[in-house]
Amino acid sequence: MNEKYQKIINKIQDAKGIIIGASNGLSISEGVHIFANNKDFQTNFGDLSVKYGFHSIIEGCFYPFPSEPEKWAFFSRLYNYFLYNKQVSSVMKNLYELIKVKNYFVITSNIDDHFRQAGFAKERLFEIEGNCSNLQCSNSCHDQIYPGDEILSKMNQHQEDGKVPLDLIPCCPVCSGPMQVHVEVDRNFLRGQSWQESYQGYQNFIDNVQGDELVLLELGVGARNKLIKAPLMNLTILHEKATYITFNKGTELFIPDTISSKSIGIDGDISDILQQLVLMK
Ligand SMILES: [Zn+2]
Repeated sequence: MNEKYQKIINKIQDAKGIIIGASNGLSISEGVHIFANNKDFQTNFGDLSVKYGFHSIIEGCFYPFPSEPEKWAFFSRLYNYFLYNKQVSSVMKNLYELIKVKNYFVITSNIDDHFRQAGFAKERLFEIEGNCSNLQCSNSCHDQIYPGDEILSKMNQHQEDGKVPLDLIPCCPVCSGPMQVHVEVDRNFLRGQSWQESYQGYQNFIDNVQGDELVLLELGVGARNKLIKAPLMNLTILHEKATYITFNKGTELFIPDTISSKSIGIDGDISDILQQLVLMK
C-alpha cells in the first residue's frame, strides 16, 4: 500500500498541472452530509424539518418556502452550519497542504465554499453549482453575484421562530425584487459573467497544460457522475501524460478499463488517505 501512496506523491510532485475534481464524498469525509437526516441536521434544522416536512439539507435547498422570512431562515442557517466561525477541517487542510505550491485548478459541485475557506485561490476555483455564501437577484434581472457573508450571518443570528425579520432581508439593488443564494436550486441560477469567467479559467488551465504531466485528482465523486467524473476521465484519455488518481469507498471507486493503465485508485476514507499522503510527503 505504501508503494501506491509513494507513487501518488511522486506524480503530484512531477505534475505541471493538477486538476482536483470534488463532489459530495469529499464533504462527507469532512463530516458534512447534505443528504442525511443526522444529528447535525436535527441540531441545525430540526424545527424546520418538522414544520415543512423535509429531511435533509438538500431537500431544504429545493423546498418552496412560503415566504422570504422563512426561506432566509433556512439559507442563513445553512451558511452558518457550513462556514460561520467554523475551523477549516483537517481534510481540507491536508488537501491544501498537498497541492498549495503546485499549479492547480479545482472543479466542484460542492456548495459549502470550503475550498475558499481552506485557502484555495478563488481564480483557481470553478464551483459549477455556485456556493451558499454568495447572493444573486431571484429575477436574474442582472448578472452581478454579491458576497453574502455579512448579511447571512446577521440573518442567522437574528431570526426567531424560523423567521428572519423583514428589515434584514436582502432585496435586489436593481429591480428591488427578492434575492437568493447563488446555488443551483432552480432555473434562476445565474451563469453570467462570474460563472463564465470561472468556466473559462478552467478551460484555459486545461489548454495551458497541454502536453505536460497532468494529474487528475478525483475526490469523492460518485461512480456514475456525469458532471465531474466523466470530463476528468475524458481528459485522462486525451492527455498523453495524464494520471487519474481517485479516492473513494467500496463500489464508488470506479476506474474504467480504458484508463486503468494511467490510473491509481485507493479504496478508503478520503480523510485518512490525505492524512497519510501529507505525512509521507
Ligand atoms: Zn433584480
